[in-house]
Amino acid sequence: MDPAPTGRCDSCGRERVRRLFFFGVGSNAVLKCGRCALRHPPLLKRSLGIAVIVGTVLLAINQGDVLLSSRWPTALAWKVPLTYLVPFLVATWGALLNSRL
Ligand SMILES: [Zn+2]
Repeated sequence: MDPAPTGRCDSCGRERVRRLFFFGVGSNAVLKCGRCALRHPPLLKRSLGIAVIVGTVLLAINQGDVLLSSRWPTALAWKVPLTYLVPFLVATWGALLNSRL
């Protein structure tokens, strides 16, 4: 039985990486290990943009009436960040799954 295919991370240079992620096209394409993939700036920028748009829509739907009221409950301190965090994590996870080799 052949061993699992491994590769080299183009970003940190780590050898024998089991799971590589593919970013870019053509001559700009790079292979990255999981740690480097999670810090890939275009991926983070895209996920952040998605989180701002989707998080704002979700916040308006779920907390719109509370935000428009005169008093804000302290629970908003954790609900608002979570509302933005969830689409960020989903977008990042989806991008990583799609770029997996
Ligand atoms: Zn790496």
